[in-house]
Amino acid sequence: MQRYFIQPEGFSADHVTITGDDAHHLIRVMRAKAGDRAIVSDGCGREAVVVVRSLEGGEVTADVEAWLPPDREPGVDVWIAQSLPKGDKMELVIQKGTEIGAARFIPFSSARTVVQWDAKKEGKRLERWQKIAKEAAEQAHRNRIPSVDSVQSWKQLLKLAAEADAAWFCYEKQDAQELRSLIRSALGKTGRADRPSGEAGSSRDRERLQLLIIVGPEGGFSEREAEEAEQAGCRPVSLGKRILRTETAAMVGLTCILYEAGEMGGEE
Ligand code: SAH
Repeated sequence: MQRYFIQPEGFSADHVTITGDDAHHLIRVMRAKAGDRAIVSDGCGREAVVVVRSLEGGEVTADVEAWLPPDREPGVDVWIAQSLPKGDKMELVIQKGTEIGAARFIPFSSARTVVQWDAKKEGKRLERWQKIAKEAAEQAHRNRIPSVDSVQSWKQLLKLAAEADAAWFCYEKQDAQELRSLIRSALGKTGRADRPSGEAGSSRDRERLQLLIIVGPEGGFSEREAEEAEQAGCRPVSLGKRILRTETAAMVGLTCILYEAGEMGGEE
């Protein structure tokens, strides 16, 4: 069954209104007709099987047949802060991070970021990254679309880090700490993050752990940045003895966190 993420305002109590590219896809590509079914999600926890009722003027109206439980989202929000990598590697980080279960991507520039960020092009690139997150979330059958922030400066990122329950910067130099013990203490040693309950935005949701993992550019972090990050309350963590490419590091950190949180399949 085809799956679509639509804006929350497209949802009402008993029907949905699908517009834009998604309506175009249903009408032109899927040649949908009244009575056909699809799965529609608002990207923040509401998801339903809907039955097409009408297809007029480039819009599709469909009745909710059954609400689906949001059960594919991890019980912990992992935010990936990625220093802008060269080429289109950011797209890879967003696509793979979404498939694995990241909740948020925060692109940032740091001392050794090679990519010269052109604010004029920012809008286009941000739109493309958000489209990649949406498409990867649809393919992964996720209930939420991870958010993609605009590009932050190093200072802005360190301020953002204070909003997370724990912030770890991936540091391949010596004196970085073992990620597993840090994750376990952040998870409160339960080994399993509390599962979210019910609709998005419920009080349990607000209790969801928010863990930030920060990855440097191809040239790594400067000594000064490592000091500043620690002063801002971020802990240096190791991702093992091998040196990972920048686009690999976040995937490893994300997977370790979700693994320790019991989010990688099977029931305890
Ligand atoms: N300075 C490295 C390259 C940086 S790799 C070199 O000597 O070649 C890019 C980023 O990936 C780093 O800034 C760091 O955030 C992360 N990273 C790579 N390998 C890592 C490891 N083994 N432990 C922790 N972080 C790592």
